[in-house]
Amino acid sequence: MPATIPLPELTPGGMLNPAPDQKPVFTLTAIDRCDKRDCNARAYIRVTMSDMRELLFCAHHGREVEPVLRPIAAFWSDETDAVLLKTGSVTEV
Ligand SMILES: [Zn+2]
Repeated sequence: MPATIPLPELTPGGMLNPAPDQKPVFTLTAIDRCDKRDCNARAYIRVTMSDMRELLFCAHHGREVEPVLRPIAAFWSDETDAVLLKTGSVTEV
């Protein structure tokens, strides 16, 4: 039987829930690209399915597939806030 990987606690919006004194954690980097065919834009949404396969989407395609995939996904990480915060105290990684 494969080991299960504990998933981090999520806020209702799907972001990792940082402690009050910590900045949000963004795990996707510029080398992570959208898996949607012919897109290849930078990924900001990571979808982990119940079998632990991961799909990465840009913000546009993440919103597009969200109604279908989110109800069946084991984990949904939306890091689109990184776009909004990169000029503030949080820097893009
Ligand atoms: Zn895309």
